[in-house]
Amino acid sequence: MQYLSTRGHPDRKRFCEILLEGLAPDGGLYLPESYPQVDAAMLAQWRAVFNEGKPGGYAALAFEVLSLYIDDIPAADLKALCDKTYTEAVYGNAAIVPLKQLDDGFYLEALSNGPTLAFKDMAMQLLGNLFEYELGRRGEELNILGATSGDTGSAAEYAMRGKKGVRVFMLSPHGRMSPFQQAQMFSLMDENIHNIAIEGVFDDCQDIVKNVSNDLAFKRSHKIGTVNSINWARLLAQVVYYFAGYFQATAKDSQKVSFTVPSGNFGNVCAGHVARQMGLPIEQLVVATNENDVLDEFFRTGVYRVRASADTHETSSPSMDISKASNFERFVFDLLGRDGARVKALFGEALSKAGRFDLGSDPAFADAAARYGFISGKSTHADRLATIKATDAEHGVVIDTHTADGVKVAREVWNRKLPMIVLETALPIKFAETIVEALGREPDRPAKFDGIEALPKRVKVMPADTALVQRYVTEHCA
Ligand SMILES: *Cc1c(COP(=O)(O)O)cnc(C)c1O
Repeated sequence: MQYLSTRGHPDRKRFCEILLEGLAPDGGLYLPESYPQVDAAMLAQWRAVFNEGKPGGYAALAFEVLSLYIDDIPAADLKALCDKTYTEAVYGNAAIVPLKQLDDGFYLEALSNGPTLAFKDMAMQLLGNLFEYELGRRGEELNILGATSGDTGSAAEYAMRGKKGVRVFMLSPHGRMSPFQQAQMFSLMDENIHNIAIEGVFDDCQDIVKNVSNDLAFKRSHKIGTVNSINWARLLAQVVYYFAGYFQATAKDSQKVSFTVPSGNFGNVCAGHVARQMGLPIEQLVVATNENDVLDEFFRTGVYRVRASADTHETSSPSMDISKASNFERFVFDLLGRDGARVKALFGEALSKAGRFDLGSDPAFADAAARYGFISGKSTHADRLATIKATDAEHGVVIDTHTADGVKVAREVWNRKLPMIVLETALPIKFAETIVEALGREPDRPAKFDGIEALPKRVKVMPADTALVQRYVTEHCA
């Protein structure tokens, strides 16, 4: 399998080459040259492999999906990496992504039982093992520099802790993450994990990462890498749970289902798009946004409009607070018939200048719904509170704020004819303040997180200064 750039660069690369890379050289995102097709016989075989989520079923399914896209890791090694990643010990249950039925035909798919209680673990845990494997094979090291407002940073740290050849330097805005999120990250004592709290906001952290990435000499001499959501391996790992959700919600392979996905950077739902392109019988992919409705606006009107920082709302589903959707270019590439030159014209300098483009009058725009199954909806703080309350009262299930955005939008569009699967993207304990606001009580806390806020913390507080961060990296990467 070869990978190409969404902006038409002529180079073709293989999986392990793009694994440790960020953007393609022309600023595009990597996609496979074509989507491998899963026919009825294969789907039946994968259903048997998944084995209703019995022990080892998810890991075996992951191997089936991944091996269609990865041909530069020997099969036995890839199988071992999948088996090591998706275990009952890490996810707390054999099915890894069990379905919870709310109504007849309306389900939550649990993706948040990994170490940091958010769905990002599903991909990041695999990435940690892939990085260690590939770096070991090359005899290389990598220093991951990232910025986080919460979920990504902790998922990356828990995936990379103790891994050979990898160090993590994670910047977060000082005092701005929830006490639970701070405790999760700062209580890690692994030598290869470095928490840096920047005196500033998330954008300051991101700017420092950008500055360092633009310092090509430093980047090369210090082997700086990233784990951000545009990494193809992360997206690929997420494709697996669409299949696992489908097998649990249906009895046979001719049935169709729809998925609703709480969305920010369009990574999660883009994996659903890939699964659908492979032939998984998905009717609709429902994109649910919060007040930061960049994507809902696009799917309603065809206008993609990047928000300025001042127009990016701080909401109670903060992991969806985005100003632009960094994975969206992948879908637009497919929507426009994989015309790299057009994608380059839309997403390149023109977008930086104008801050928007409009496909509303392009015939391809109608295909987003008709041919690719995409529809969308939006949810607000009041909707989240009402949905958390109703789901608790009617089903005795407490959901997190992001999942609530998904449930709200799914309920609006569900036709009751086909199963609807809402992806649960985090556990409520991560966003306890809003749960208390909605229900008047604290959400349940998994036993392994009892007393986490009281653990000793390891974090370096620093002014928002790129040179100081570079000096810290230099001092700690030998
Ligand atoms: C990252 C995240 C999202 C958004 O996922 P995207 O892949 O960026 O669309 C939603 N919910 C939670 C809890 C997250 O951590």
